[in-house]
Amino acid sequence: SPPSKGFVYEQHGPPDQVLRMVELPPVPVKENDVCVKMLAAPINPSDINRIEGVYPIRPQVPAVGGSEGVGEVHAVGSAVKSLSVGDRVIACPTTFGTWQTYVVKEESVWHKVSKNVPIEYAATVTVNPMTALRMMEDFVELNPGDAIVQNGSSSMVGQCIVQLARIRGVQSINLIRERPGSEELKEKLKKLGANEVFTENQLEIKNVKSLLNNIQEPALGFNCVGGNAASLVQKFLRQGGTMVTYGGMAKKPITVSTSSFIFKDLSLRGFWLQKWMNTEKAQDCRAMADQLLSFVEQGELKYEMELVPFIEFDTALNYALGKSGSRPKQVLTF
Ligand code: NDP
Repeated sequence: SPPSKGFVYEQHGPPDQVLRMVELPPVPVKENDVCVKMLAAPINPSDINRIEGVYPIRPQVPAVGGSEGVGEVHAVGSAVKSLSVGDRVIACPTTFGTWQTYVVKEESVWHKVSKNVPIEYAATVTVNPMTALRMMEDFVELNPGDAIVQNGSSSMVGQCIVQLARIRGVQSINLIRERPGSEELKEKLKKLGANEVFTENQLEIKNVKSLLNNIQEPALGFNCVGGNAASLVQKFLRQGGTMVTYGGMAKKPITVSTSSFIFKDLSLRGFWLQKWMNTEKAQDCRAMADQLLSFVEQGELKYEMELVPFIEFDTALNYALGKSGSRPKQVLTF
């Protein structure tokens, strides 16, 4: 491969302290390898947690950061059959080390995608949209007219849930935190198909269900925040409902009232895409990526992103760390 530039960490710690831009020496492209010139790669919460050292599966240090992304095939090894120079590819399932200009990995890591899809969508399809899709399928059977409730609705996963629900005729009740821009955010989510959007402090009332107009009580809820936001999701759930926790943005534990266990018989479940990727069903992940990208092409699925040139990595990282308030998903472009 050509020499590569990458953001590397040699020890775990706060990402803005431990990441360094490093000139990486050329890597030999072995017979089954494909060298990809990266085009775009996002900064996801799990990438940050891996660098902090608090994520269960993480690469050995020193490591290049990043886990998903899209690029263009730059060179192929002599035994590579399925890909050729110029193809656009994503790492699917995800891989380690996408925050660098050239990535060399085995052919089997890469999945060819259409060039009609904007690079930022190809770069981000394998983590968040896939999580949204799995969680809509794997816990409670949803039929048209049913409803779901979620917190963290402004996240990329949250925006995908709103739209996947809309596509299936499922109604969505969406919780966001109170912060500058929350009114505009409500409108944006409604444009994507959200049926109801509430800020958490609108829900400091006894009977939150009185706020629902013509929406069924949801049997399924999603929680990526924790703390009070998780309690609010439970309040909306119907008798026997299930709350699926997949993130902990507020870093606060989930509490469940005794009465909601006894009188509502709620179920609390968890979802982790990385574990799903180790099951047999993961064979479907490329078909799922294709399906999600075709929704993007058809204009059925969109989400907010901010494209940041790779050389301005520090700015993107600070935004992704939430140091300047709420920002859309940061996507590095190369
Ligand atoms: P984004 O980076 O797109 O958005 C971050 C979200 O977190 C925003 O909704 C933001 O709200 C919210 N947020 C940030 N800080 C706080 C806080 N202190 N309290 C409450 N909310 C906060 O998120 P992603 O879509 O990439 O990921 C969302 C969650 O899903 C993350 O927790 C991530 O780890 C998890 N995830 C889990 C997976 C799994 O397999 N379990 C797979 C994929 C993602 P605001 O807009 O108000 O700033």
